[in-house]
Amino acid sequence: MREAFIYKKLWQYFKPYKWLIVLALVMSVISSGTDIGLVSVIKPLMDKVFIGQDKNLLKIIPFILVGLYFLKSALRFALNYTLRYMAQKVIQCLRDRLYNKIIYLPLRFFSDNSTGILMSRITNDVNMMQSAITTVVSVVRDILSVLGLIGYVFYINPKMAAMSLLVYPIFIHPLIIISRRIRKYSKKGQEQMGWLTSALQETFSGIRVVKAFVQEKKEIDRFGKVNNQVVRSMLKAGMASEVTSPMMEFVGSIGLSFIVFYGGFQVINGQSTTGAFFSFLAALVMVYEPIKRLSNANGVIQQALAASERVFEILDVGNEILDHDGTLDCDARNKNVEFRRVTFRYDKKGEDILKNINLTVLPGATVAFVGHSGAGKSTAINLVSRFYDVTDGELLVGGVNIKQYKVHSLRKNIGYVSQEPFLFNDTVYNNIAYSDEYHTEEEIMTVCKAAYAHEFITRLPEGYQTVIGERGVRLSGGQKQRLTIARALLKNPPILILDEATSSLDSESEREVQKALDNLMMGRTSFVIAHRLTTIINADLIVVMENGEINATGKHETLIAGNETYNKLYSMQAEQRQTI
Ligand code: ADP
Repeated sequence: MREAFIYKKLWQYFKPYKWLIVLALVMSVISSGTDIGLVSVIKPLMDKVFIGQDKNLLKIIPFILVGLYFLKSALRFALNYTLRYMAQKVIQCLRDRLYNKIIYLPLRFFSDNSTGILMSRITNDVNMMQSAITTVVSVVRDILSVLGLIGYVFYINPKMAAMSLLVYPIFIHPLIIISRRIRKYSKKGQEQMGWLTSALQETFSGIRVVKAFVQEKKEIDRFGKVNNQVVRSMLKAGMASEVTSPMMEFVGSIGLSFIVFYGGFQVINGQSTTGAFFSFLAALVMVYEPIKRLSNANGVIQQALAASERVFEILDVGNEILDHDGTLDCDARNKNVEFRRVTFRYDKKGEDILKNINLTVLPGATVAFVGHSGAGKSTAINLVSRFYDVTDGELLVGGVNIKQYKVHSLRKNIGYVSQEPFLFNDTVYNNIAYSDEYHTEEEIMTVCKAAYAHEFITRLPEGYQTVIGERGVRLSGGQKQRLTIARALLKNPPILILDEATSSLDSESEREVQKALDNLMMGRTSFVIAHRLTTIINADLIVVMENGEINATGKHETLIAGNETYNKLYSMQAEQRQTI
């Protein structure tokens, strides 16, 4: 059942190449025909040339042999190349679709699945499928050869053929069991391979922490354990896969011994000719190669089926946000943003992370969310971009539930500056002009000036064309911040989300970043997870969050006078400030 489902899914990817498949099949038929041609030459060679001393036939046979081998080789090349071409194209399409699918998936998916595992899906699993595709069609060729050669032996000596092949069916059942084992263990192995990639990714991106805590040994142990599990599963799959071929070989030898004995008797008794005997024997020996390949192919195909299952699992994941996309275009300029009885939980069965949040934010206002870590500040802000959907209640922009807007249109209205500024490995220019709208150079310079970034950019080796990021020039934390601020300024969104850095920059950088932020926030509705005292004090509205609820709202002066939680938070913040 499951297999039929996977085959059906796979077929969608092969469908565009159906004519190539037909061509490959035709080539396979002719190619396996050459095998039969080759073994059937043996009979006249033995009976007429060697025993009957026919010299004319001797002169022709070498030409026939060369001709047949030429045809066989040419077809093999054409067939293999066709298969490779098709495999590469199908895999390209699969990889593209996976990437396309994953990039649009909601944030929830990324917090549930580690990056390493997703990477493993696109690389390891897809590669495994690729090796199977070439195998599958060569399987067709091999099956045809086997059928042709078996047909031939039945034609020459039906009784002997039937008896010598009788041993094979006994092994069909064990073969099925072996297939299941291969699939089970390789699926496990591939899953563990995903953990391995994920462990690698984690260690390398957190390498500073690992080194600072001198935890290299612990990480080596952790990696070693996963590595060991991968190897164990792979070896189990390998054992199942490798046992097939010798098993078939042994079975083949039983059949072969029988033929030598029984066929020999027939030749001695004059019931059969020497030529027929050797021709029969050659066909059976030749049938062994494709059978061996077929039993090996089984392993590859089973592994690929397991890989396909995982790939299709991702392709079939529902998109809770985009599957419920709205129809309206959003323009949030001069519109209120309102949380109306908003309740939210990450996990359907989990606890409420936000409880009955009611909040109206006027256009252009700055709202500072303050509260202890884990209070639900980021969660509340993430809902505005529809990174997650509210569980209960409504979030409205301009009085319209945001679910009614097209998600991408809504997000175009929202700018985002995070505490860990993310820049792509590209030029300064391209990093700022990241959105898909066209911007002139002048516009870009204007926003960079407003973000206090122009000056340092012009001092970079190639100015705006300097490549930054991992493979380029290194920038300081404050410089990166200002670039992301410039990027947000260029997007010019009516709503802004700001996740302020907890660890302060040095005061000089901070001043510059603060000035840049002031420019950015001007005239926009800003939601800020506030750590900077200036942001908090100057905010139009401060929302004090506690355990997923709004504890109080108001301006600094009111809250400092009458709210205990706020007082504590404020003095904590002020203390931190002094120690820096
Ligand atoms: P804050 O921003 O105030 O520090 P968060 O909104 O990040 O708080 O977190 C609020 C609560 O939600 C915490 O208890 C946290 O463990 C939980 N949480 C945050 N993100 C996720 C997630 N992706 N999946 C499940 N729980 C989460």
